[in-house]
Amino acid sequence: MSVGASMLNREFIPFNRPEIGMDELNEVAEVLRSGWLTTGERTKRFEVELCGYTGARFGQAVNSCTAGLHLALAALNIGPGDEVITTPLTFCATVNVILHQGATPVLADIGDDFNISPAAIRERITPRTRAIIPVHFAGLPCRMTEIWEIARERGLAVVEDAAHAIGTHYRGHHIGDAAVSRSDAVAYSFYATKNLTTGEGGMVTTNREDLYERMRRMTLHGISRDAWNRYAENGSWYYEVVEPGFKYNLSDLQSAIGLVQLKKIEAMTARRAELAGLYDRLLGGRDDLMTPPDEEFGRHCWHLYVLRINPAALSISRDEFIKELHSRGIGTSVHFIPIPLHPFFKAWAGLEENQCPRAMSLYRQIISLPLYPGMSEEQVRRVAREVIDIADQSRCRESINVPELEEHRRAMASAT
Ligand SMILES: *Cc1c(COP(=O)(O)O)cnc(C)c1O
Repeated sequence: MSVGASMLNREFIPFNRPEIGMDELNEVAEVLRSGWLTTGERTKRFEVELCGYTGARFGQAVNSCTAGLHLALAALNIGPGDEVITTPLTFCATVNVILHQGATPVLADIGDDFNISPAAIRERITPRTRAIIPVHFAGLPCRMTEIWEIARERGLAVVEDAAHAIGTHYRGHHIGDAAVSRSDAVAYSFYATKNLTTGEGGMVTTNREDLYERMRRMTLHGISRDAWNRYAENGSWYYEVVEPGFKYNLSDLQSAIGLVQLKKIEAMTARRAELAGLYDRLLGGRDDLMTPPDEEFGRHCWHLYVLRINPAALSISRDEFIKELHSRGIGTSVHFIPIPLHPFFKAWAGLEENQCPRAMSLYRQIISLPLYPGMSEEQVRRVAREVIDIADQSRCRESINVPELEEHRRAMASAT
């Protein structure tokens, strides 16, 4: 394939770049000067301010979203013999935490929105099902009303994997907002590539005081705060371990970054939405490409811009498309390799490929394009130009008829 003039004189556009400025640098320096590096006053403030932002009652800062998900399952006493339903289109962490608890992960296929389908959840429920972990894929909210309804009917816990979803609204409220949320816990990721970053980090929020107390204790070795408070008042060094907890706490160094990022999150989200809208306008209206789903009932926080290619209209595969973009100086990624394709998960009952044909087929069509607040419109235009140029150069001659894509288009058109 000819690369033409577009190759010349171009800097590489990375897939992701964190939005870090002088304020983050200064705040971290301040923590380093203060003499208190681990969990302390700044982490407490980060918890309070994040809850102020989302509307959740309680926030427990943790060192990753994975830790937050694990804590929630552990605090809910999910264990051996229990089944937990989640999506095949997620990062391995969502499934690993279920296995860490000795429970059995079960996959329910995705819908047109790339999120877990409530109908598929219903099909996968057994007497052993204890919890559902919906993932707000790319930052688009799941159909929570239906998921909460299923959970209520069947007495299941709901733990939201909100790794992509800081800033996501569902029916006018932030994910996890105590005013409307019926979930047990919501876990956010502040990993380097996420919309709000602390380098590594996370937060698990809940509106249940009992769950909060348990998660808080399990975050730091299972040390009882009661004992701590009882003795600390007299300046005592004494503490008591009341269960085998974990070492999941977030440091003040990280929370200092998080506090600054939280101040910028609305502006960063707005910028993402602007750039995603520009991609939509530049890439829309073609039969060989499909722009990502959006929903009326929520606010997408645009963690990812997942372009879908129509393999029947193109003579090259998704992998070749990615390679071609890379050779033209565009970094991309794929979210995600479906759970059943990983060797370890393959053999697991409940994680069979044939339980998620939609995710398996979507996987071969998706490319996550660069999207971050620091991108210029010119960079977005350049990515879109290269995408279109590659598509134009590799179009199939034959006419195109992919029923699944047609169906998807109709669904998207009727939804708006
Ligand atoms: C990033 C991610 C996680 C894990 O987040 P960490 O903070 O790295 O533990 C979990 N689930 C999904 C969907 C993610 O994208």
